[in-house]
Amino acid sequence: MAKIVKNGNKLVVPDELTLPYIEGDGVGVEITNACKKIVDHTISTVYKGSKKIEWLEVLGGEKAYNKTSQWLPEETMNTFKEYLIGIKGPLATPVGGGSRSLNVALRQELDLFVCLRPVEWFKGVSSPLKEPEKVNMVVFRENTEDIYAGIEWESNTEEAKKFYNFLKDEMGVKKVRFPETSSFGVKPVSQEGSSRLVRAAIEYAINNKKPSVTLVHKGNIMKFTEGGFKKWGYEVAEKEFKDYTFTMNEYAAIKKEKGAEAADKAYDEALKAGKVIIKDNIADAFLQNTLLKPEDYSVIATLNLNGDYISDQLAAMVGGIGIAPGANINYNTGHAIFEATHGTAPDIAGKNIVNPCSMLLSFAMLFEYISWNEVSQKINNALVESFGNGYATHDLARFMENGTSLSTSDFAENIIKLIR
Ligand code: NAD
Repeated sequence: MAKIVKNGNKLVVPDELTLPYIEGDGVGVEITNACKKIVDHTISTVYKGSKKIEWLEVLGGEKAYNKTSQWLPEETMNTFKEYLIGIKGPLATPVGGGSRSLNVALRQELDLFVCLRPVEWFKGVSSPLKEPEKVNMVVFRENTEDIYAGIEWESNTEEAKKFYNFLKDEMGVKKVRFPETSSFGVKPVSQEGSSRLVRAAIEYAINNKKPSVTLVHKGNIMKFTEGGFKKWGYEVAEKEFKDYTFTMNEYAAIKKEKGAEAADKAYDEALKAGKVIIKDNIADAFLQNTLLKPEDYSVIATLNLNGDYISDQLAAMVGGIGIAPGANINYNTGHAIFEATHGTAPDIAGKNIVNPCSMLLSFAMLFEYISWNEVSQKINNALVESFGNGYATHDLARFMENGTSLSTSDFAENIIKLIR
């Protein structure tokens, strides 16, 4: 049993790596099995025995409940803590909402503060855009704060009344339109939380030679929370990455002092020097712009709620739910859980038709994260070739020109054949 350890900034990855995984409920069984086969084949093709995965199943969701009467056994949490990284299939929501708290529990316990969602189009996959090849983004969504902190009170409860009275009497708030029937929510956004998210996004952009990081926010309306995110984001760039970035704040300062021509010149020089441009965009304009000029965006750093909307819109632009991968990461401790981003798809479970690509691309992200880049590359190349020839599961093939619908297991076999 060999584990990854974090040594300073680096992950030290053993050649015989034990990888904990949760199979997942519903279609989880089918996608996890298909992906494990593809991954084993890819690793043996690339490394010819010098690197290996030892699979370690840990329980979560319905399977865990049936075996242990717990949705997320302590042992699973401890294994993820100990082994640093892992991967999970989709988990069913039990009555009473236990599965939400299951995903949230993993995120909170391991403080996985980045929800990472790459968005890239594969040639052949149907898209609502005219030029989907222009979409190439990576979303860094803050994962621990914002209205997702769950501080909410329902209308007509003692708590809501108490909270409103506090606002009215202590804080002098007079703006609540219908106080008697209002529910209330609180949106905490901190400097630490914003800074670490933006720091991770900028480091990613520098390490992966990405042209820009865009801070997406609604600071025009929520000046101290969303506006704070933007302000702290620019500060991180200016204080910690001065030699590697050029911010639109710097641009504005040069423009004010020396005029637009000097500012444009400084911007062009920064681009030529390979610096990462740090800019910002109001969330509503951003959503519109991603449809009209997606090529303007590369790495996106945003708050929790914005990130939720943005990830889904961008995923829909390049093929949707069956093909969007994701991960939840703490870049400081190294902890990371990679995941299929869709649900358990009960309507198609057991039919051997589910698209395994969300999970497969999450595996590709995992191997990139531990610097087994050759594995990710092979998986990506095989997908490009398969989609390019119209071979896909039914959800994608039905919209492709010359599409051929394959079952989940046949699609996996086809990918294995293409990994040589
Ligand atoms: P869903 O993602 O399971 O399904 C929505 C639709 O998309 C369905 O028609 C489904 O057949 C289709 N679909 C989803 N993934 C697909 C794939 N890989 N290939 C082809 N088609 C696919 O969402 P839902 O129906 O709202 O939720 C079902 C269950 O999953 C619920 O219990 C929900 O709470 C849970 N869920 C879990 C996660 C998670 O664990 N990360 C995420 C979302 C939903």
